[in-house]
Amino acid sequence: MKPLLDETHDPKARSWVESANAAASEFPIQNLPFGVFRRHDKDADARVGVAIGDRVLDVAGVGSEGLLADSDVKGAAEACGADCPGGASLNALMALGSGPRRALRRRLHALLRDDGPASDREAVSRHLVPQAEVEMLLPAAVGDYTDFYASVFHATNVGKLFRPDNPLLPNYKYVPIGYHGRASSLVVSGTAVRRPLGQTRDGEAAPQFGPSKALDYELEVGFFVSAGNEMETRIPLAEAEDHIFGICLVNDWSARDIQAWEYQPLGPFLAKSFATSLSPWVVTLEALAPFRAGAFARPAGDPAPLPYLFDSDDQQYGGLNLSLEASLLSARMREMGLAPVVLSRSNFRDLYWTMAQLLTHHASNGCNLRAGDLLASGTVSGADKSARGCLLELTSRGREPITLPSGEQRRFLEDGDEIILHGYCEGDGFRRIGLGACSGTILGARVS
Ligand code: CA
Repeated sequence: MKPLLDETHDPKARSWVESANAAASEFPIQNLPFGVFRRHDKDADARVGVAIGDRVLDVAGVGSEGLLADSDVKGAAEACGADCPGGASLNALMALGSGPRRALRRRLHALLRDDGPASDREAVSRHLVPQAEVEMLLPAAVGDYTDFYASVFHATNVGKLFRPDNPLLPNYKYVPIGYHGRASSLVVSGTAVRRPLGQTRDGEAAPQFGPSKALDYELEVGFFVSAGNEMETRIPLAEAEDHIFGICLVNDWSARDIQAWEYQPLGPFLAKSFATSLSPWVVTLEALAPFRAGAFARPAGDPAPLPYLFDSDDQQYGGLNLSLEASLLSARMREMGLAPVVLSRSNFRDLYWTMAQLLTHHASNGCNLRAGDLLASGTVSGADKSARGCLLELTSRGREPITLPSGEQRRFLEDGDEIILHGYCEGDGFRRIGLGACSGTILGARVS
């Protein structure tokens, strides 16, 4: 679908929330991502918020001032105040689909802009909380989490390590490959990740059970389902983006030694289900509109997508120019006062499949997707060696260790290592927007 631009993308727009105007801010008035937060004070409720500069705006709070009462935004504002089982979440807002979300974004943009009427600012400012004073929670109650494998560079690099003669399987260029992940172990950025135990086999030796010795991260992008589909119905590709709310960063932690032993014939299982980290802010499709790009240019000789996965608008606008990077900070580096070291830089537009194709494929058998479901891209790697989005690729399965600024070497992650993911969109004539960070630090295995 052709991305719609409106006044919320105006690069000259500034907010009266001063911190949002800083060039380095990931959350200028052109972004306005949604998340769920709780103030540090004890017993505070979880609330739906929108990031603006270094503040979070409590959406239901703004609604309580009577500022979100117009018919086009009322429903969305009420959805931000609705509780779902387990507390506040974005699920109710997601379920409304794209129209109400767009209207709410435009209204919040108008309230926060510095060239609008000043009369409502005092009321709005009562509901701005410093981000430093809140804890971010998972943005949605995720019913199902599906992880794809949409980077042909990642699939080829990994395939070479495990099947040198046959790196890319014949289905890859026809079927968006995915597997059902585990929703219960999704955690928000900042949550420590425990090294998992599992069954591994070293060569021809007897299989053993113990801490993973090949713990890895995967740099991915996730997107949330907004309005779902009824079971036994499909989602046409031309309508797919109406069913997508927005994106976040995903680190799909992976135990490569457990994975190598368990993955055939049914795919990953316990190697990935112990934890998956998400960045807390969901950047809406509206905010991403200026940064849409063409779908992956398939090299000559590759098959065209089957008709249900082909749409000319999707080919023209289905990609996204989103720069991604993964950094590592070891415990030793932290002690030495060193900054995290960038391990890779890649771009989301290099994926073989668009988000819309992944979603349409997911529902193509009549499977019902539900508001708040999370679909992730799979590791986002690129053609260059510097664009490999996990250690498995960067170190060739541990054969070529990397050296950190502390002098330490890494084949896979050690206890105390922190992985930090970042993502941002920039383009000529538009304000740069960011996704915020997705971080997690490895804790030692719990062996007893
Ligand atoms: Ca993955």
